[in-house]
Amino acid sequence: MNRPVELPNCLPQFAQPAARRLTRQITVAWATRKVRIGGDAPVAVQSMTNTDTADAIATAIQVKQLAQAGSEIVRITVNSPEAAAEVAPIRDQLDKMGIDVPLVGDFHYNGHKLLTQFPACAQALSKYRINPGNVGRGAKGGDNFAQMIDVACRYRKPVRIGVNWGSLDQELLARMMDENAQRTEPFDAKSVLREALVHSAIASAARAEELGLNQDMICLSAKVSGVQDLIAVYRELSRRCDYPLHLGLTEAGMGSKGIVASTAALSVLLQEGIGDTIRISLTPAPGESRTTEVQVAQEILQTVGLRAFTPMVVACPGCGRTTSTFFQELANDIQSWLRAQMPLWRADYPGVESMSVAVMGCVVNGPGESKHANIGISLPGSGEAPVAPVFVDGVRTVTLKGDRIAAEFQAIVDEYVRRAYAATASATAAVAAATPAHH
Ligand code: SF4
Repeated sequence: MNRPVELPNCLPQFAQPAARRLTRQITVAWATRKVRIGGDAPVAVQSMTNTDTADAIATAIQVKQLAQAGSEIVRITVNSPEAAAEVAPIRDQLDKMGIDVPLVGDFHYNGHKLLTQFPACAQALSKYRINPGNVGRGAKGGDNFAQMIDVACRYRKPVRIGVNWGSLDQELLARMMDENAQRTEPFDAKSVLREALVHSAIASAARAEELGLNQDMICLSAKVSGVQDLIAVYRELSRRCDYPLHLGLTEAGMGSKGIVASTAALSVLLQEGIGDTIRISLTPAPGESRTTEVQVAQEILQTVGLRAFTPMVVACPGCGRTTSTFFQELANDIQSWLRAQMPLWRADYPGVESMSVAVMGCVVNGPGESKHANIGISLPGSGEAPVAPVFVDGVRTVTLKGDRIAAEFQAIVDEYVRRAYAATASATAAVAAATPAHH
């Protein structure tokens, strides 16, 4: 049975994520906060409120919740004069609360009027989202688009040209469909639709540049609700331009369907090095917090290995060997507790966001998985002694038993964080102290 195993002379090239595609970089700023999108910047997490922007207090509160959950940019709809009038007060309210997250205004149909008639709104926003399919038809649409770009140039605000197939420029699509019908061998309608999305985004960006907006002030999106369509469209966008790309599956849906569809689409693109900022368009269940979309965006980036935000719990699914739901509760409680600690830990214990904690249901895979994690615990399965061995950095340290296993394990994790990451914290502080300030 114990035949010798020989490693081959060379190992296969195991797959790695592709290098990030090199894009231009834009900066979305408010006060001293600068969020960079594209270039060598980490993929940024965005979200959008679902409050009525005319209700300044409710909107400011939700922006604060999204920012505290980790959203690095928050978009608000600006759909009416009443909403536009409240944008500056929302910004003021956030500033008073110490929330410096940049705000993006989402404009459709009347953006040209709102941005010109409400200068305080134009100034308080850090970026404008313009949907070229919703600026109006023909020459009038061209004028409206030009007015919005003029405001962006005047206030030095970057713009996202955000195409969406639910509101694609119908004149453009009809023209392309007609041209296709006249071909001796027409393309299929889906390919023409995809091409229309890509063309609309790139042509609108080119028009914005002609109108005076700098190349480094433009990012693009072309959102669709089908996973394969999204992948196809973004691959093509990425091939044909170097604007930073905002990824998101539009109308992803509710619960696991929305999370799975978004993850399926975005993981493929991120793996190929495509995407500079992401937003997950989840429909919250009644009563569910809007911040779920931020958590999902962070978890996508963390699980594909692009960024780290919160220590992750590795837990087995459980099976007939588990004697109770105790390990499920422990896994859930530890993950919630870790997430709740992050606002404090982020500053005090740099690097803790990459920590992994294993919570396993029995000894079959428990000790092995625990050794791979920073800290792991194996709870007793059926027929096993009622003890829970704990591994720290791959070494078995203590064995917990009795009814205080959960509390004692949490204390061990807490102590580990303070010990293992305090060193990183003091090293970072020492470097900061030794680095001369730049003026
Ligand atoms: S670790 Fe144990 S309890 Fe968990 S799934 Fe595997 S065999 Fe089942």
